[in-house]
Amino acid sequence: MTEPGAGSDALGSMRTTARKDGDHYVLNGSKIFITNGPIADIVLVYAKTSPEKGAKGISAFIVETDTPGFKVAQKLNKMGFRGSPTGELVFEDCRVPAKNMVGKPDGGVAVTMSGLDLERAIVCFNAMGIARRALEISIDYAKTRQQFGKPIASFQMVQAMLAEMYTEIEAARSLSLRTAAMCEGLEEGEGGRGEIHKLTAAAIFKAAAATSFVLDRAVQIHGGSGYMRDTEVNRLYRTGRVLEVGAGTQEVRKLIISGELLKNI
Ligand SMILES: Cc1cc2nc3c(=O)[nH]c(=O)nc-3n(C[C@H](O)[C@H](O)[C@H](O)COP(=O)(O)OP(=O)(O)OC[C@H]3O[C@@H](n4cnc5c(N)ncnc54)[C@H](O)[C@@H]3O)c2cc1C
Repeated sequence: MTEPGAGSDALGSMRTTARKDGDHYVLNGSKIFITNGPIADIVLVYAKTSPEKGAKGISAFIVETDTPGFKVAQKLNKMGFRGSPTGELVFEDCRVPAKNMVGKPDGGVAVTMSGLDLERAIVCFNAMGIARRALEISIDYAKTRQQFGKPIASFQMVQAMLAEMYTEIEAARSLSLRTAAMCEGLEEGEGGRGEIHKLTAAAIFKAAAATSFVLDRAVQIHGGSGYMRDTEVNRLYRTGRVLEVGAGTQEVRKLIISGELLKNI
């Protein structure tokens, strides 16, 4: 979905087009920051089939990446999450069979909305895994690292950091689990509005903020070694930062929550 000029406003500012030509659509445009794009066999791509209709003129297509006109322009060099490649994808007169359209013509918004809430709910648990591991290794480090002749875990200021980290994780985890339970049994087409839209945005907002808080304290407890690239806590810190940006930024999540709260005003 994301393009060089279309991030938070992915639908409104989208420039990739799909022009009907017989029993095919011809795609032109480029997409950026696409997770696993450089190694994908199949991509789900959104393009404007009726550009004059703005966000309401978007359709979704399945594209096999050996289709002529598809190209991986570059693999990007990320600060974290380096086990999963992220790239820029280019479509140049890429002919896709019309039967590869997902959903209805100009029905791309419904396709994306059906998935984004679930994506947010799932990403909460990426965050919780990172945060819980950061707490675990911080406790180990605090127990073993000695200063002033004692383990640093014996100092109350370090104890306070551990207690706050634990509390943030448990608060975020409770909301994430409640949200996941609400997602169970969600019917197709039910996402993208109402209670589930608000709750999934709130859950990932809280999970990402809690994870950033925990990672910051985890590096602090590790002292100088936490700043060294080769330590596990440093890898977690670099990886976790994306949780406030990807799958919609913290600001976009707040726009969703407040939009639902203020809907009938
Ligand atoms: C590692 C990674 C993987 C990704 N994977 C994918 C993927 O697989 N598929 C995909 O489609 N996209 C993917 N993305 C893109 C991601 O969804 C976007 O980066 C994100 O939506 C933000 O868009 P942007 O980077 O263009 O930032 P911008 O939209 O340019 O935002 C810049 C800043 O302005 C703020 N801002 C923008 N609009 C408003 C507003 N109205 N009110 C207040 N603040 C605002 C933002 O919150 C942010 O702080 C990925 C990104 C990363 C980093």
